[in-house]
Amino acid sequence: MAKLTVSDLDLKGKKVLMRVDFNVPIKDGVIGNDNRIVAALPTINYVIDHGGKAILLSHLGRIKSEDDKPGLSMRPVAERLSNLLNKPVTFVPTTEGPQLEDAINKMSDGQVLVMENTRYEDVKNGEQVKRESKNDPSLGKYWASLGDVFINDAFGTAHRQHASNVGIASNMPQTAAGFLMEKEIKFIGGAVSNPAHPFVAILGGAKVSDKIGVIDNLLDKADKVIIGGGMTYTFYAAKGMKIGNSLVEKDKIDLAKSIMDKAGDKLVLPVDSVVAEKFDNDAPHKTVEGDIPDGYMALDIGPKSVAAFEDVLKPAKLVVWNGPMGVFEMSNYAQGTLEIGKYLGTLSDATTIVGGGDSTAAVQQLGVADKLTHISTGGGASLEYLEGKTLPGIAAISEK
Ligand code: AMP
Repeated sequence: MAKLTVSDLDLKGKKVLMRVDFNVPIKDGVIGNDNRIVAALPTINYVIDHGGKAILLSHLGRIKSEDDKPGLSMRPVAERLSNLLNKPVTFVPTTEGPQLEDAINKMSDGQVLVMENTRYEDVKNGEQVKRESKNDPSLGKYWASLGDVFINDAFGTAHRQHASNVGIASNMPQTAAGFLMEKEIKFIGGAVSNPAHPFVAILGGAKVSDKIGVIDNLLDKADKVIIGGGMTYTFYAAKGMKIGNSLVEKDKIDLAKSIMDKAGDKLVLPVDSVVAEKFDNDAPHKTVEGDIPDGYMALDIGPKSVAAFEDVLKPAKLVVWNGPMGVFEMSNYAQGTLEIGKYLGTLSDATTIVGGGDSTAAVQQLGVADKLTHISTGGGASLEYLEGKTLPGIAAISEK
C-alpha cells in the first residue's frame, strides 16, 4: 500500500509539525555543509506555499550533558534556513513550555518556526534522561499537541524510534511523508520490495561485518551481487588466496565462505587490485591480478575488475550501490569507485540508486551524483532498509 504524502494533505491554515533532518556538521556555531537544509526546502516551501504554518523539529548531534547544549543549538540552522528561504524564520530557543506555545499561536499562514534541538530533551537539569532518544511517551504526546498534522521528512532517523518521529506520529490522526521521505520509500523501499530485473547490487566499503545483513537480503533479491572495497579481501582469504597486508576480518572468514556457498555465481568478486606498500596515497603502488603479494595491501579494484563489473552491470534495469570500491578519499585509489560511478551514469535504461553513507560522499566528491537516479540521504537508515528491516519512522507514516 502507498504511504500518505504531503501533497495528499489540505494544509491551509493548519499548524503543520514537520520532522526534518537538519543534522548538519557544525563547529563553533558555524555550519560546515548545508546540504541537508537545502534538501528539506522543497517540502517546507510546499507547506508554506499552500498556506500551512511550518513548525520544524530536528535533532542536531548528540546531547549527553548540559555542556553539549550551547554548541548544538538550532539557532544557526534557523538563520541559514531563513537565508535559503529568503524570508524570516522564527527561532524558539526551547523545546517545550509557554514560550514555544505562544510563538506557535502567534504564527500566520505561510510562516516558518524552528524549535530548539529535539535532543535538548535528552538531558534535563544535568541528568541524562533521553526523553527524545528513548521516545518518552509524554514528550511525543506533548509535541503532537502543538500541531494539527504531522509530516515526517527525516529519512536519516527513520531507523530510530524517537519521540520526534514515532512519538509524534502515534499521537496524530494522520502522518504524511515529505518529498524526501517519499523518494526514499519509492527508490530504496521499492528496490527491496519490488525490484526490476536484472537487478545488480554493488556492495563495497571497509567491512563485511557492517554489510552482512545487506549482502544476505540482496542475495535473495538481486540477480548479481558485486563485491568491492576492503571487504573483498575477507572473501579472498575465504577462497584460500593470499591477501598480503590487506584489510581482513579473520572472524568473518567462515561467514564469507558460507555466503559464497549460498551465492554461487551470483557473487562477483574483483579479479585485480591496486596494491600499495602502505596506507598512503604516495606509497609505491601497482596493479596485480589475483593474489595480493606479501608486503602490499589492496586499496582499490583494478581496471580488469572495472571492465568485468561493467559487463555485469550493462543489462541491469536496477542497480543499488552501497560502499566504495576502494579508498576513494586518496586520489591514487579512487579510480575504481569513480569508474563504476561514471559507468552507472551511462545506464540510461536503469534505475541507479546510491544507498547512503560513504557511497553518497564518494559520488558527490567524484562529481557523478547528478547522473544517477537517487542518492539516499540516510546512512544507517538506508543500510537497515536494504537489509529488509521495517524502519519504525516509516512504519509510523499513515497509509493512503
Ligand atoms: P563503509 O563505511 O563500510 O562503506 O566503508 C567506507 C570506507 O571504506 C571508506 O572510508 C574507504 O576508504 C574504505 N575502504 C574502501 N576500500 C578499502 C580498502 N581496500 N582498504 C581499506 N579501506 C577501504
